[in-house]
Amino acid sequence: MTEVADKGRPPARPAAAAAAGGAAALPAHQSAVAQLKRAYAAIPPGSPVRLAKRTSNLFRFRGDAAGPGLDVSAFDHVLRIDPAARTAIVGGMTTYEHLTEATLAHGLMPLVVPQLKTITLGGAVSGLGIESTSLRSGMPHESVLEMEILTGDGRVVTAAPGGEHDALYRGFPNSYGTLGYALSLTIELEPVTPYVHLRHFRFSRPEDCMAAIAEIALAGSYDRHRADFVDGTMFSLDELYLTVGAFSEVAPWRSDYTREQIYYQSVRGPSEDFLTIADYLWRWDTDWFWCSRPFGVQQPLVRRAWPRRYRRSDVYRRLVAFDRRHRLTAALNARRGAPRNEDVIQDVEIPVDRGADFLRFFTAEVGMSPVWLCPLRLRGERTWPLYPMQPGQVYVNFGFWGTVAQPPGASDGHYNRRIETTVSELGGHKGLYSTSFYSQQEFWARYNGPEYAVLKGDYDADGRLADLYDKCVRGQ
Ligand SMILES: Cc1cc2nc3c(=O)[nH]c(=O)nc-3n(C[C@H](O)[C@H](O)[C@H](O)COP(=O)(O)OP(=O)(O)OC[C@H]3O[C@@H](n4cnc5c(N)ncnc54)[C@H](O)[C@@H]3O)c2cc1C
Repeated sequence: MTEVADKGRPPARPAAAAAAGGAAALPAHQSAVAQLKRAYAAIPPGSPVRLAKRTSNLFRFRGDAAGPGLDVSAFDHVLRIDPAARTAIVGGMTTYEHLTEATLAHGLMPLVVPQLKTITLGGAVSGLGIESTSLRSGMPHESVLEMEILTGDGRVVTAAPGGEHDALYRGFPNSYGTLGYALSLTIELEPVTPYVHLRHFRFSRPEDCMAAIAEIALAGSYDRHRADFVDGTMFSLDELYLTVGAFSEVAPWRSDYTREQIYYQSVRGPSEDFLTIADYLWRWDTDWFWCSRPFGVQQPLVRRAWPRRYRRSDVYRRLVAFDRRHRLTAALNARRGAPRNEDVIQDVEIPVDRGADFLRFFTAEVGMSPVWLCPLRLRGERTWPLYPMQPGQVYVNFGFWGTVAQPPGASDGHYNRRIETTVSELGGHKGLYSTSFYSQQEFWARYNGPEYAVLKGDYDADGRLADLYDKCVRGQ
């Protein structure tokens, strides 16, 4: 820990200021849009369309080896920040790392900043991001004021609430690039302080932890600590923590989990902590939550030898993708005669009053730990047809990312299927960034097939982009 006595905002960094574009940014963006439109039109009908991006946070690897795609590198820029109006115009493929670098320089941040540095704004809006501000501020798409979208049928349209393309604006979240690609988005920002003051609260029963979440949702605080940020970690059914963060102008000390200490272990104690706002936003990225463990990075000797700049979620994700592509671990396990492992990498949302039931089911039948807990609720009354959440209802997102040995004779997706069924029984939903095993009928019942079909007809009538079921379940 480093002792600090300073007050005030982190200094504006020249690189961050440059990232916010300047006067030339909007004309350059317009010419990039025209070029992309031409490149899209040049793809022969019937050929698969995909984005050529350097990074991805999807956990479906089947598409990784597909041929060249649309070059969207021109869309990773913040085009304009208006500090007075607290808004930003942002390229659709801008990573949150670049976006927050630019906004923090103005003492501002997006209302929801997903935890992994290379998640992009367009990816979080079309694929549903969440984070520890989601109990207060909902999901990233709820603070989008308008979007410029290249539609599947090759038009570039502006989708905004109440406008001509209102249906596309509302149907874009959870469409995963199957209706079109967001090229720029205008988003709301909120002011930050230089530090976040964390308190970790321990619970010895999931029911008590869920009751505390319900209390925070009503009161906006816990034990007189303001809940600007709330998330949690379950190690076992009798060891759960909620971490409640409050914006703070001062920090009597501050921790740094990009070095020897590891953030997820810190929640076990001491019960109070301070981080700079940037370190808070990226607290989970350094160790990809806890998923850096298989690489040895959490062992002190390996950690010291592993360069700090490579302690990042995108580096680990690339290592996993390499392993999957070359089937290294699978071949090793087969040679050892070890049981087949199933990937159980999912985020699910459960109404808070059924959250304890989910944790008890998950511990008994899947048994992976830790589990990430993140409460959320829609920010307003507006609903989003492809991901039907109830306004006013508090949900808890449970995130679990690992592998489990399959029982003998079990079919592919044994655990994932059990999870899908239980999530539905408990009135919840499952995110679609990873593998899914739903039948077509069940999938369209859960993700509003009728409304999706209308949108597909209006914006991609010739089906140039894969449809949502083919993409998220069949992995096309
Ligand atoms: C281990 C793990 C943990 C995760 N935890 C969280 C979490 O806690 N919080 C959270 O918010 N998310 C989390 N995610 C999920 C992540 O937010 C989604 O996978 C998101 O869609 C990834 O966005 P990306 O920008 O990396 O896009 P990509 O991975 O490149 O693409 C994702 C999908 O979005 C589409 N897409 C990308 N850009 C655009 C665009 N501009 N317009 C339209 N469609 C587009 C792509 O076609 C693709 O279908 C997690 C994922 C993993 C693997």
